[in-house]
Amino acid sequence: MALTQIQPLKSRKAWYRSPVVIRQGVMIFFFLFLLHVAYDHQLRGGGPKGSPSIEAYCPFGGIETLYQFITTGGFIRHIEPSALILMGAVLILTLVLSRGFCGWICPFGSLQEWLGMIGRRIFGKRYNPTAPWEKRLRALKYVILALIVFFTWRLGTLVFRPYDPFLAFFHLGNGFREMPYAYAALGGVLLGSLKVDRFFCKYACPLGAVIGLIGKVGLTRIARTDDGCKGCNVCQKSCFAHIEFLSTNKINDAECNHCLECVTSCPKPNVLTLRGGGWKFSHGAYAALLLAGLFTTIGLSQMWGKWRTQPVAVAFTNASGKLDAGQIRGWMTLSEISEGYRLPLSTLYAQAHLPSSVDSATRLNQIAGKYKLQFDPDGMRDVVSGLLSGTSARKPAMTHSGGSDEVKGFMSLNEVSAKTGVPAGFILKAMEIKAPVNASQPLREWMHAQGKSIQDVRDAVASYKASGK
Ligand code: SF4
Ligand code: SF4
Repeated sequence: MALTQIQPLKSRKAWYRSPVVIRQGVMIFFFLFLLHVAYDHQLRGGGPKGSPSIEAYCPFGGIETLYQFITTGGFIRHIEPSALILMGAVLILTLVLSRGFCGWICPFGSLQEWLGMIGRRIFGKRYNPTAPWEKRLRALKYVILALIVFFTWRLGTLVFRPYDPFLAFFHLGNGFREMPYAYAALGGVLLGSLKVDRFFCKYACPLGAVIGLIGKVGLTRIARTDDGCKGCNVCQKSCFAHIEFLSTNKINDAECNHCLECVTSCPKPNVLTLRGGGWKFSHGAYAALLLAGLFTTIGLSQMWGKWRTQPVAVAFTNASGKLDAGQIRGWMTLSEISEGYRLPLSTLYAQAHLPSSVDSATRLNQIAGKYKLQFDPDGMRDVVSGLLSGTSARKPAMTHSGGSDEVKGFMSLNEVSAKTGVPAGFILKAMEIKAPVNASQPLREWMHAQGKSIQDVRDAVASYKASGK
C-alpha cells in the first residue's frame, strides 16, 4: 500500500513534460502578461508617467511604422520602439523556427483557440470547410495586409486601428464609443471562433499573413515518415488548418503555425516529428528556443538602451515644430497642458469654465468622472487651439448642457458623416479645407494642424442641418 502511494511520484514528475501542459503554459503566460499590461494601462492611463499601451507589445505595429522609421527615423503615432524591436524578433524567430509565434505566443491566437474548445463543448461539431472556396478565402488576409501597409505607409497613420479586434479586446471594454468598428469586428471574431478554428488567424490577420509567408522559408518543418504510419488521418483532423498530410513527408504550408497538435495526436510514436537543421525537436525544446529567442532580443535591446514602451516626454508640438493643440491627450493633466503650451493655468480654467475645485494634476479623461462635471477633453483642445491662435474658444470644455454634441474628436470624418447624415465633402467645404485629409483618421489627429477645431466641424454639421438639405 505504501509502495503504491510512492509510485505516483513518477507521473507527478512527468506532468510538466506533457506536450499539452508545455504549450498551454506558454500560451497562458503570454495571454496573462498582455492582460496585465492592458489592465494597468486602463487603470493608470498612458503617457510618460502612465503605463505602456498594448500597442507597445504588438509586432505588427513595427511593420506599420517601418516606412516612417526608415524615411524619417520617427514612429507613427501610438507606436513605440518596442513594437519595432518585437517585429524584428518575430521575423528572425520565424526565419529560424517558422510560424511558432502564432502557435505559441500570440495571445489573440490563443484566445481563439480556447474559444474553439468552448465552442466544441457547446456545439459538438466544428464548422471547418475544406472546399476550394475556403482556401481562396484564406487569401483575404494577404489582401488586408497589402491594403493596411499601403495606406498606413502612404498616410502615416494607423489606418487599421479603428477596425482592429485585437486592440478592442485588450481595451477591456473601454473606448467602446471610440472604436465601434473594432468592437464589432471583435464580436465577429469571438463568435466565429466558437464554430470555426482560429477564425481571425485563417482569414483576416495581417500579421499572420506576414509570418506565414516568411515561415515558408523557416528552418523547421513537420516531417512524416511512411514507416509506421497507418493512414488513419488523425493528424489532419487535429490540424486547425486541415493541412493534407498523407500525400507528403514534409509540411511546407504557410498556414502551419507549429502548434504541434498533429504530433501530439498521432497514435504512432515518431511518425510525425518537428525537424529542422538535422535536429528533431520535442515540445519542450521548441518552446525553450522560442522563449530564448524572444527574450534574448528584448534583453539585448534593453542593454543597448533601445527598448522603450512609452513616450519619454509629452509632445506639444507637431512635426513642423509648432505648438499644436492636437497633441493634447486624455491622459494629460491641466498642469502639463499649462506648462507645455505656456498658458497660465487660471486662463485655462476660465476659458474651459472649470471650477477651481478641480485639481490641476487630474488627467483630462478623469475630470468628468471624478468631479461629476460635463467635461469634454475635445473641448480642451479647442480652448488651447483658440488661445494659441489668439481667439477664444467658441465652446468651453466644460458645459452644463448635458453634452449633447454628437461630433467628437475621436471620430473620423467618415464616422461624423455616417452619424450626422452630413456629406463629408460638405463638411470639408464648409471648413474651407483644401488639403487632402484622411477621412478614416480621427478628427483630432489632423484638424488642429489645419488650423481647425472640433467646433468648426460641429458648426459645419449645424449649418447643413439648418439649411434643411
Ligand atoms: S494569425 Fe494573427 S492572431 Fe493568429 S496567432 Fe498569428 S498573429 Fe496571432
Ligand atoms: S500541421 Fe501540425 S503543427 Fe502545423 S498547424 Fe497543423 S496541427 Fe499544427
